[in-house]
Amino acid sequence: MEFFNLQGEWLQAAVGILATLIALGLLAAGFALSAGGSPEQARAVVEEAIEKKKEERPATVWAGPLRLPTENVALFEENGGPQFFQHTSRDFEDEPMRPWESGQYGFVRTPVRTEEQGIVYTRFHEGIDIQATRRDEHGEPMDTVRATDQGLVAYTNETADASNYGKYVVVEHQWEGAPYYSLYAHLSEVFVNTGERVRQGRRLGRVGYTGAGINEPRAHVHFELNVLINDHFRRWIEKHFGGNPHGVYSGLNMRGFDAAGYFEALRDDPDLKLTQFLQQQEPYYKVAFPRTGPLDLLRRYPWMRPEGVSDTTSFPSWEMSFTRGGFPLGVNPYDQQLSEPKVTMNPPLEGVSCMHTTYEHLGGVPPNCTLAPRGRRYIDLITMQGAGEGGSRRAW
Ligand SMILES: [Zn+2]
Repeated sequence: MEFFNLQGEWLQAAVGILATLIALGLLAAGFALSAGGSPEQARAVVEEAIEKKKEERPATVWAGPLRLPTENVALFEENGGPQFFQHTSRDFEDEPMRPWESGQYGFVRTPVRTEEQGIVYTRFHEGIDIQATRRDEHGEPMDTVRATDQGLVAYTNETADASNYGKYVVVEHQWEGAPYYSLYAHLSEVFVNTGERVRQGRRLGRVGYTGAGINEPRAHVHFELNVLINDHFRRWIEKHFGGNPHGVYSGLNMRGFDAAGYFEALRDDPDLKLTQFLQQQEPYYKVAFPRTGPLDLLRRYPWMRPEGVSDTTSFPSWEMSFTRGGFPLGVNPYDQQLSEPKVTMNPPLEGVSCMHTTYEHLGGVPPNCTLAPRGRRYIDLITMQGAGEGGSRRAW
């Protein structure tokens, strides 16, 4: 069923585009011929019309080799933000607002007015919230959520109350030889099972409003593209929080990058490599920590490893770079012996509490920021060691 469904949809789009191209071309050729041109000239006119049409690139679900998770393609339309991203509601300085911007990835929520830098957004949103485009007569969202690429269903949570994500699906993709994880949250229904291989575009579930801080009017899919931090996550979660029902596929063990930014970059350059995209991100702060064993992250994502450095190269500590949202950008050897992690590069916002600018991973004020409890736990997760207890179902 799925196959025919997808084929039908694709075929429809292709036939539509082809029909437009032919109509445009014939029209143009007709003009050329009636103006006394040769068949060659007419053909040139047709080709030009086709090229022009291609350049206009009508909004589709396609972003290079990936596809948007639903039929909402407003991301690729001029000024489509308000139709693509799901707004939130908030009161700021006694003014009620419904900003669509807070459906984007990044520091888009919980504004705080600071003396030094004006309004600073303090809460980090690790995914993108994609609006529902269709509702039934009761107002229930009807959009289908589809796999952004082929992969393996790594995890499904069908118990709405068991996570802030509500019902969610995690799909593992092999991109450039490394595993990345797309996550689809707040679903009303899940159509796949853990361990299932899925084609690109496979129906994974339906847009809903399960999970925390969401209701029917704000129904959307919260979509993330992630790296997995540590296969020994179970040991870490038991140490700090006493366990969780989702194995390694808890949101705490995945770090996301800007999915919409990546889709847009792929639209401009379909050949763009993900590692290239990630390595273009600016480090926002750096933390050095004692080297207590191999970093699981480096095993999974060799591009984070500095050239010429192996697990047996001798040096006492690592220094890791992070984006503002805590996404790890790589490590370098650090020559100092350390007894505990420390901040080696401060966030750039002068005078603003690091609590506000790093989603509480750091505390203090630049240039004297230190690791806050959340940041210390995060470094503990990155460095957590374990022998052969990998909790993931990875098949590679
Ligand atoms: Zn969200």
